[in-house]
Amino acid sequence: MPNSKQTKSQQAKKPSSLLDKKVLSRIAEHAVGWFSKHSRDLPWRKTKNAYRIWISECMLQQTQVATVIPYYERFLERFPDVSTLAAAELDEVYQLWAGLGYYRRARQLHSAAIRVVESGQEPFPTDRDAIAKLPGIGRYTANAIASFAYDQPFGIVEANTQRLYARLMLCKEPLSQTAMQAKLWEFAQALVEAWPVSPGQLNQSLMEIGSLVCKPKDPQCQACPLQSHCQAYQTGQTSTIPASKPKKLITDLREIGLLVRDSKGRWLMRRRSPTERWSGLWDFPRYDCTSIESESLAIEHALKEFDRIYGKSLWVRSECLSVKHSVTRYRILLRCFEARLEGAKTISTKGKLAQHEQFDWYKVEELESLALSSSARKVADWLTKQAAGEN
Ligand code: SF4
Repeated sequence: MPNSKQTKSQQAKKPSSLLDKKVLSRIAEHAVGWFSKHSRDLPWRKTKNAYRIWISECMLQQTQVATVIPYYERFLERFPDVSTLAAAELDEVYQLWAGLGYYRRARQLHSAAIRVVESGQEPFPTDRDAIAKLPGIGRYTANAIASFAYDQPFGIVEANTQRLYARLMLCKEPLSQTAMQAKLWEFAQALVEAWPVSPGQLNQSLMEIGSLVCKPKDPQCQACPLQSHCQAYQTGQTSTIPASKPKKLITDLREIGLLVRDSKGRWLMRRRSPTERWSGLWDFPRYDCTSIESESLAIEHALKEFDRIYGKSLWVRSECLSVKHSVTRYRILLRCFEARLEGAKTISTKGKLAQHEQFDWYKVEELESLALSSSARKVADWLTKQAAGEN
Protein backbone atom coordinates (compact mmCIF):
# COMPACT_ATOMS: atom_id res chain seq x y z
CA MET A 1 0.00 0.00 0.00
CA PRO A 2 1.20 3.57 -0.61
CA ASN A 3 2.74 5.32 2.31
CA SER A 4 0.62 8.29 3.43
CA LYS A 5 3.79 10.26 4.12
CA GLN A 6 4.96 10.08 0.50
CA THR A 7 5.41 13.40 -1.17
CA LYS A 8 3.42 14.43 -4.25
CA SER A 9 6.54 14.35 -6.38
CA GLN A 10 7.17 10.74 -5.31
CA GLN A 11 3.62 9.76 -6.19
CA ALA A 12 3.68 11.49 -9.55
CA LYS A 13 6.76 9.80 -11.05
CA LYS A 14 5.97 8.51 -14.51
CA PRO A 15 7.06 5.06 -15.61
CA SER A 16 9.09 6.54 -18.47
CA SER A 17 11.30 8.35 -15.95
CA LEU A 18 12.65 4.93 -15.02
CA LEU A 19 14.57 4.81 -18.28
CA ASP A 20 16.50 7.93 -17.35
CA LYS A 21 20.16 6.92 -17.00
CA LYS A 22 20.60 8.62 -13.63
CA VAL A 23 17.50 6.92 -12.23
CA LEU A 24 18.66 3.56 -13.59
CA SER A 25 22.05 4.03 -12.06
CA ARG A 26 20.50 4.81 -8.65
CA ILE A 27 18.27 1.71 -8.92
CA ALA A 28 21.39 -0.34 -9.69
CA GLU A 29 23.31 1.19 -6.81
CA HIS A 30 20.50 0.46 -4.33
CA ALA A 31 20.08 -3.09 -5.64
CA VAL A 32 23.78 -3.94 -5.49
CA GLY A 33 24.14 -2.33 -2.05
CA TRP A 34 21.26 -4.42 -0.72
CA PHE A 35 22.67 -7.59 -2.34
CA SER A 36 26.04 -7.16 -0.66
CA LYS A 37 24.31 -7.45 2.74
CA HIS A 38 21.38 -9.81 2.10
CA SER A 39 22.25 -12.26 -0.66
CA ARG A 40 21.96 -15.99 -0.01
CA ASP A 41 25.12 -18.05 0.12
CA LEU A 42 24.58 -20.27 -2.93
CA PRO A 43 27.27 -22.52 -4.45
CA TRP A 44 26.97 -21.13 -7.99
CA ARG A 45 27.49 -17.60 -6.66
CA LYS A 46 31.01 -18.52 -5.55
CA THR A 47 32.30 -19.09 -9.06
CA LYS A 48 32.95 -17.24 -12.29
CA ASN A 49 33.29 -20.54 -14.16
CA ALA A 50 30.86 -20.33 -17.09
CA TYR A 51 30.39 -24.11 -17.28
CA ARG A 52 29.32 -24.29 -13.62
CA ILE A 53 27.05 -21.28 -13.99
CA TRP A 54 25.47 -22.89 -17.02
CA ILE A 55 24.76 -26.12 -15.10
CA SER A 56 23.17 -24.15 -12.25
CA GLU A 57 21.03 -22.08 -14.60
CA CYS A 58 19.84 -25.17 -16.39
CA MET A 59 18.91 -26.92 -13.14
CA LEU A 60 17.21 -23.83 -11.70
CA GLN A 61 14.71 -23.63 -14.56
CA GLN A 62 11.35 -24.70 -13.06
CA THR A 63 13.07 -26.03 -9.92
CA GLN A 64 13.53 -24.48 -6.49
CA VAL A 65 16.95 -23.45 -5.17
CA ALA A 66 16.90 -25.80 -2.15
CA THR A 67 16.13 -28.78 -4.41
CA VAL A 68 18.86 -27.88 -6.89
CA ILE A 69 21.82 -27.54 -4.47
CA PRO A 70 22.51 -31.29 -3.84
CA TYR A 71 21.92 -32.12 -7.53
CA TYR A 72 24.31 -29.35 -8.59
CA GLU A 73 27.04 -30.60 -6.26
CA ARG A 74 26.67 -34.26 -7.27
CA PHE A 75 26.58 -33.38 -10.97
CA LEU A 76 29.76 -31.31 -10.81
CA GLU A 77 31.56 -33.90 -8.78
CA ARG A 78 30.97 -36.42 -11.59
CA PHE A 79 31.22 -33.93 -14.50
CA PRO A 80 33.61 -31.20 -13.37
CA ASP A 81 34.01 -29.73 -16.86
CA VAL A 82 32.43 -29.70 -20.27
CA SER A 83 34.67 -32.44 -21.68
CA THR A 84 33.72 -35.00 -19.00
CA LEU A 85 30.06 -34.21 -19.60
CA ALA A 86 30.46 -34.55 -23.37
CA ALA A 87 32.23 -37.90 -22.99
CA ALA A 88 29.54 -39.39 -20.72
CA GLU A 89 26.69 -41.65 -21.81
CA LEU A 90 23.34 -39.85 -21.85
CA ASP A 91 21.95 -42.49 -19.47
CA GLU A 92 24.44 -41.48 -16.81
CA VAL A 93 23.48 -37.82 -17.24
CA TYR A 94 19.84 -38.83 -16.83
CA GLN A 95 20.66 -40.76 -13.68
CA LEU A 96 22.25 -37.70 -12.07
CA TRP A 97 19.26 -35.66 -13.19
CA ALA A 98 16.62 -38.12 -11.98
CA GLY A 99 14.21 -36.34 -9.64
CA LEU A 100 14.71 -32.86 -11.10
CA GLY A 101 12.15 -33.57 -13.83
CA TYR A 102 12.01 -31.87 -17.23
CA TYR A 103 14.53 -34.34 -18.64
CA ARG A 104 14.72 -32.45 -21.91
CA ARG A 105 17.04 -30.05 -20.08
CA ALA A 106 19.47 -32.90 -19.30
CA ARG A 107 19.40 -34.10 -22.90
CA GLN A 108 20.06 -30.61 -24.24
CA LEU A 109 22.84 -30.07 -21.70
CA HIS A 110 24.56 -33.20 -22.94
CA SER A 111 24.14 -32.24 -26.63
CA ALA A 112 25.42 -28.73 -25.93
CA ALA A 113 28.50 -30.12 -24.14
CA ILE A 114 29.26 -32.31 -27.15
CA ARG A 115 28.88 -29.32 -29.45
CA VAL A 116 31.23 -27.17 -27.33
CA VAL A 117 33.90 -29.89 -27.42
CA GLU A 118 33.46 -30.68 -31.12
CA SER A 119 33.66 -27.00 -32.08
CA GLY A 120 36.82 -26.49 -29.99
CA GLN A 121 35.19 -23.94 -27.68
CA GLU A 122 36.38 -25.48 -24.41
CA PRO A 123 36.26 -24.73 -21.55
CA PHE A 124 33.15 -22.75 -22.60
CA PRO A 125 32.33 -20.18 -25.29
CA THR A 126 33.04 -16.62 -24.19
CA ASP A 127 30.97 -14.91 -26.86
CA ARG A 128 27.35 -14.33 -25.85
CA ASP A 129 25.99 -15.11 -29.33
CA ALA A 130 27.97 -18.35 -29.49
CA ILE A 131 26.51 -19.32 -26.10
CA ALA A 132 22.99 -18.53 -27.38
CA LYS A 133 23.46 -20.96 -30.30
CA LEU A 134 23.91 -23.98 -28.01
CA PRO A 135 20.97 -26.38 -27.61
CA GLY A 136 18.62 -25.49 -24.75
CA ILE A 137 20.06 -22.01 -24.24
CA GLY A 138 17.64 -19.14 -24.75
CA ARG A 139 18.05 -15.41 -24.43
CA TYR A 140 17.82 -15.37 -20.64
CA THR A 141 20.36 -18.17 -20.07
CA ALA A 142 22.84 -16.77 -22.61
CA ASN A 143 22.67 -13.33 -21.01
CA ALA A 144 22.89 -14.75 -17.50
CA ILE A 145 26.03 -16.78 -18.32
CA ALA A 146 27.68 -13.88 -20.21
CA SER A 147 27.01 -11.44 -17.39
CA PHE A 148 27.60 -13.70 -14.36
CA ALA A 149 30.75 -15.36 -15.71
CA TYR A 150 32.29 -12.65 -17.88
CA ASP A 151 30.61 -9.46 -16.63
CA GLN A 152 29.40 -8.67 -20.13
CA PRO A 153 26.62 -6.04 -20.17
CA PHE A 154 23.55 -8.12 -21.02
CA GLY A 155 20.27 -7.61 -19.17
CA ILE A 156 18.14 -10.48 -17.95
CA VAL A 157 14.42 -11.16 -17.72
CA GLU A 158 13.12 -14.26 -15.94
CA ALA A 159 10.23 -14.95 -13.57
CA ASN A 160 11.58 -12.98 -10.60
CA THR A 161 13.01 -10.01 -12.49
CA GLN A 162 10.04 -9.61 -14.78
CA ARG A 163 7.73 -9.28 -11.79
CA LEU A 164 10.10 -6.76 -10.21
CA TYR A 165 10.46 -4.69 -13.41
CA ALA A 166 6.71 -4.79 -14.02
CA ARG A 167 6.06 -3.33 -10.58
CA LEU A 168 8.79 -0.74 -10.90
CA MET A 169 7.40 0.39 -14.28
CA LEU A 170 3.70 -0.12 -13.46
CA CYS A 171 3.12 -2.53 -16.34
CA LYS A 172 -0.57 -3.35 -16.21
CA GLU A 173 -0.85 -5.57 -19.27
CA PRO A 174 -0.20 -9.34 -19.10
CA LEU A 175 3.56 -9.89 -19.18
CA SER A 176 3.29 -12.62 -21.78
CA GLN A 177 2.33 -10.03 -24.42
CA THR A 178 5.05 -9.46 -27.01
CA ALA A 179 5.06 -5.69 -26.53
CA MET A 180 5.35 -6.11 -22.77
CA GLN A 181 8.23 -8.56 -23.11
CA ALA A 182 10.03 -6.07 -25.37
CA LYS A 183 9.54 -3.37 -22.75
CA LEU A 184 10.90 -5.58 -19.95
CA TRP A 185 13.98 -6.56 -21.99
CA GLU A 186 14.57 -2.93 -22.90
CA PHE A 187 14.46 -1.99 -19.23
CA ALA A 188 16.76 -4.87 -18.25
CA GLN A 189 19.29 -3.85 -20.89
CA ALA A 190 19.14 -0.17 -19.96
CA LEU A 191 19.83 -1.10 -16.33
CA VAL A 192 23.06 -3.03 -17.01
CA GLU A 193 24.25 -0.33 -19.39
CA ALA A 194 23.72 2.25 -16.65
CA TRP A 195 25.86 0.16 -14.25
CA PRO A 196 29.04 -0.88 -16.05
CA VAL A 197 30.77 -1.56 -12.73
CA SER A 198 29.53 -5.15 -12.61
CA PRO A 199 26.62 -6.23 -14.82
CA GLY A 200 26.78 -9.76 -13.42
CA GLN A 201 26.45 -8.63 -9.83
CA LEU A 202 23.66 -6.24 -10.76
CA ASN A 203 21.69 -8.98 -12.51
CA GLN A 204 22.11 -11.31 -9.55
CA SER A 205 21.01 -8.51 -7.20
CA LEU A 206 17.84 -7.89 -9.19
CA MET A 207 17.01 -11.60 -9.29
CA GLU A 208 17.56 -11.89 -5.56
CA ILE A 209 15.34 -8.87 -4.80
CA GLY A 210 12.66 -10.37 -7.06
CA SER A 211 12.94 -13.71 -5.31
CA LEU A 212 13.25 -12.67 -1.64
CA VAL A 213 11.58 -9.24 -1.45
CA CYS A 214 9.32 -8.56 -4.42
CA LYS A 215 7.49 -11.85 -3.97
CA PRO A 216 4.48 -12.74 -6.10
CA LYS A 217 1.80 -12.65 -3.38
CA ASP A 218 3.21 -10.69 -0.48
CA PRO A 219 5.90 -8.23 -1.59
CA GLN A 220 8.00 -7.00 1.32
CA CYS A 221 7.84 -3.35 0.28
CA GLN A 222 8.92 -2.00 3.66
CA ALA A 223 12.22 -3.88 3.34
CA CYS A 224 12.68 -3.17 -0.37
CA PRO A 225 15.75 -1.20 -1.47
CA LEU A 226 13.90 -0.06 -4.60
CA GLN A 227 10.78 1.24 -2.88
CA SER A 228 11.46 4.87 -3.76
CA HIS A 229 11.55 3.95 -7.48
CA CYS A 230 8.54 1.64 -7.51
CA GLN A 231 5.47 2.89 -9.34
CA ALA A 232 3.30 -0.02 -8.19
CA TYR A 233 4.13 0.71 -4.56
CA GLN A 234 3.58 4.41 -4.91
CA THR A 235 0.18 3.95 -6.51
CA GLY A 236 -0.97 1.10 -4.25
CA GLN A 237 -1.10 -1.48 -7.04
CA THR A 238 1.43 -4.06 -5.90
CA SER A 239 -1.26 -6.74 -5.50
CA THR A 240 -2.61 -6.36 -9.04
CA ILE A 241 0.71 -6.17 -10.89
CA PRO A 242 1.70 -8.27 -12.67
CA ALA A 243 -1.71 -9.13 -14.13
CA SER A 244 -2.66 -12.76 -13.48
CA LYS A 245 -1.92 -15.21 -16.23
CA PRO A 246 -4.87 -16.65 -18.14
CA LYS A 247 -5.71 -20.08 -16.68
CA LYS A 248 -4.24 -23.06 -18.51
CA LEU A 249 -6.76 -25.39 -20.06
CA ILE A 250 -6.06 -28.79 -18.54
CA THR A 251 -6.46 -31.93 -20.63
CA ASP A 252 -7.13 -35.20 -18.81
CA LEU A 253 -5.40 -38.29 -20.16
CA ARG A 254 -5.97 -41.88 -19.10
CA GLU A 255 -3.39 -44.60 -19.57
CA ILE A 256 -3.17 -48.29 -18.81
CA GLY A 257 0.23 -49.45 -17.57
CA LEU A 258 1.23 -53.11 -17.86
CA LEU A 259 3.69 -54.26 -15.21
CA VAL A 260 4.97 -57.36 -16.94
CA ARG A 261 7.02 -59.82 -14.91
CA ASP A 262 8.90 -62.75 -16.49
CA SER A 263 9.62 -66.17 -15.02
CA LYS A 264 12.81 -64.84 -13.41
CA GLY A 265 10.89 -62.14 -11.56
CA ARG A 266 12.26 -59.32 -13.75
CA TRP A 267 10.18 -56.40 -14.99
CA LEU A 268 9.82 -55.41 -18.63
CA MET A 269 10.98 -51.87 -19.27
CA ARG A 270 11.01 -49.92 -22.52
CA ARG A 271 12.89 -46.82 -23.54
CA ARG A 272 10.59 -44.01 -24.64
CA SER A 273 11.11 -43.12 -28.30
CA PRO A 274 12.25 -39.72 -29.62
CA THR A 275 8.69 -38.84 -30.66
CA GLU A 276 7.21 -39.47 -27.24
CA ARG A 277 6.90 -37.33 -24.14
CA TRP A 278 9.91 -37.98 -21.81
CA SER A 279 11.86 -39.31 -24.76
CA GLY A 280 14.95 -41.38 -23.92
CA LEU A 281 13.74 -42.27 -20.42
CA TRP A 282 12.77 -45.77 -19.37
CA ASP A 283 9.21 -46.69 -18.53
CA PHE A 284 6.80 -49.58 -18.13
CA PRO A 285 4.73 -50.43 -21.22
CA ARG A 286 1.75 -48.06 -21.04
CA TYR A 287 -0.92 -47.17 -23.50
CA ASP A 288 -3.14 -44.15 -23.95
CA CYS A 289 -6.80 -45.10 -23.49
CA THR A 290 -8.27 -41.62 -23.07
CA SER A 291 -10.91 -42.09 -25.75
CA ILE A 292 -12.09 -45.45 -24.38
CA GLU A 293 -14.76 -45.11 -21.72
CA SER A 294 -15.10 -48.70 -20.53
CA GLU A 295 -12.40 -50.14 -18.27
CA SER A 296 -12.53 -53.61 -19.82
CA LEU A 297 -12.21 -52.19 -23.34
CA ALA A 298 -9.31 -49.99 -22.23
CA ILE A 299 -7.47 -53.04 -20.86
CA GLU A 300 -8.27 -54.98 -24.01
CA HIS A 301 -6.84 -52.15 -26.10
CA ALA A 302 -3.63 -52.11 -24.02
CA LEU A 303 -3.23 -55.89 -24.37
CA LYS A 304 -3.78 -55.72 -28.11
CA GLU A 305 -1.17 -52.98 -28.43
CA PHE A 306 1.26 -55.03 -26.37
CA ASP A 307 0.65 -58.09 -28.55
CA ARG A 308 1.06 -56.01 -31.72
CA ILE A 309 4.44 -54.65 -30.61
CA TYR A 310 5.98 -57.56 -28.69
CA GLY A 311 4.18 -60.47 -30.38
CA LYS A 312 3.17 -61.96 -27.02
CA SER A 313 -0.10 -62.37 -25.18
CA LEU A 314 -0.51 -61.41 -21.56
CA TRP A 315 -2.93 -62.23 -18.83
CA VAL A 316 -3.57 -59.54 -16.31
CA ARG A 317 -4.38 -59.60 -12.64
CA SER A 318 -6.46 -56.89 -11.04
CA GLU A 319 -5.40 -53.26 -10.88
CA CYS A 320 -2.52 -52.89 -8.42
CA LEU A 321 -1.74 -49.20 -8.43
CA SER A 322 -2.90 -45.91 -9.87
CA VAL A 323 -0.62 -42.91 -10.28
CA LYS A 324 -1.66 -39.32 -10.92
CA HIS A 325 0.85 -37.13 -12.68
CA SER A 326 0.64 -33.61 -14.12
CA VAL A 327 2.90 -32.34 -16.85
CA THR A 328 2.52 -28.98 -18.65
CA ARG A 329 -1.19 -28.84 -19.50
CA TYR A 330 -1.84 -32.55 -19.09
CA ARG A 331 -3.18 -34.39 -16.07
CA ILE A 332 -2.46 -38.09 -16.47
CA LEU A 333 -4.12 -40.93 -14.63
CA LEU A 334 -2.01 -44.08 -15.03
CA ARG A 335 -3.74 -47.26 -13.89
CA CYS A 336 -1.32 -50.14 -13.53
CA PHE A 337 -2.06 -53.85 -13.85
CA GLU A 338 0.39 -56.60 -13.04
CA ALA A 339 0.67 -58.96 -16.00
CA ARG A 340 2.34 -62.24 -16.92
CA LEU A 341 3.36 -63.62 -20.28
CA GLU A 342 1.06 -66.36 -21.52
CA GLY A 343 3.01 -69.45 -22.46
CA ALA A 344 6.37 -67.73 -22.89
CA LYS A 345 8.95 -67.47 -20.12
CA THR A 346 10.31 -64.17 -21.37
CA ILE A 347 10.69 -62.03 -24.50
CA SER A 348 14.13 -62.09 -26.03
CA THR A 349 15.68 -58.65 -26.40
CA LYS A 350 17.31 -59.97 -29.61
CA GLY A 351 14.01 -60.74 -31.31
CA LYS A 352 12.43 -58.47 -33.92
CA LEU A 353 9.53 -56.33 -32.79
CA ALA A 354 6.67 -54.80 -34.73
CA GLN A 355 8.09 -51.35 -34.13
CA HIS A 356 11.51 -50.05 -33.34
CA GLU A 357 11.40 -50.57 -29.61
CA GLN A 358 14.28 -50.65 -27.18
CA PHE A 359 13.42 -52.75 -24.17
CA ASP A 360 15.01 -54.88 -21.48
CA TRP A 361 14.27 -56.83 -18.31
CA TYR A 362 15.27 -55.49 -14.90
CA LYS A 363 15.22 -56.87 -11.39
CA VAL A 364 13.39 -54.63 -8.96
CA GLU A 365 16.64 -53.55 -7.27
CA GLU A 366 18.02 -52.47 -10.66
CA LEU A 367 15.17 -50.02 -11.24
CA GLU A 368 16.73 -47.67 -8.68
CA SER A 369 19.61 -46.75 -11.01
CA LEU A 370 17.54 -46.58 -14.20
CA ALA A 371 16.65 -43.17 -15.67
CA LEU A 372 12.87 -43.35 -15.36
CA SER A 373 10.07 -40.93 -16.14
CA SER A 374 8.67 -39.37 -12.94
CA SER A 375 5.49 -41.42 -13.06
CA ALA A 376 7.45 -44.63 -13.77
CA ARG A 377 9.62 -43.75 -10.77
CA LYS A 378 6.49 -43.74 -8.58
CA VAL A 379 5.59 -47.19 -9.91
CA ALA A 380 9.16 -48.47 -9.41
CA ASP A 381 9.20 -47.16 -5.82
CA TRP A 382 5.93 -48.95 -5.17
CA LEU A 383 7.34 -52.22 -6.60
CA THR A 384 10.44 -51.81 -4.42
CA LYS A 385 8.29 -51.43 -1.31
CA GLN A 386 6.19 -54.42 -2.32
CA ALA A 387 9.35 -56.50 -2.81
CA ALA A 388 10.67 -55.42 0.59
CA GLY A 389 7.34 -56.48 2.13
CA GLU A 390 7.53 -59.86 0.39
CA ASN A 391 11.01 -60.57 1.85
S1 SF4 B 1 8.40 -1.67 -3.41
FE1 SF4 B 1 7.33 -3.58 -3.22
S2 SF4 B 1 6.38 -3.97 -5.19
FE2 SF4 B 1 7.92 -2.37 -5.46
S3 SF4 B 1 9.75 -3.44 -6.13
FE3 SF4 B 1 9.88 -3.24 -3.91
S4 SF4 B 1 8.93 -5.12 -3.10
FE4 SF4 B 1 8.37 -4.95 -5.25
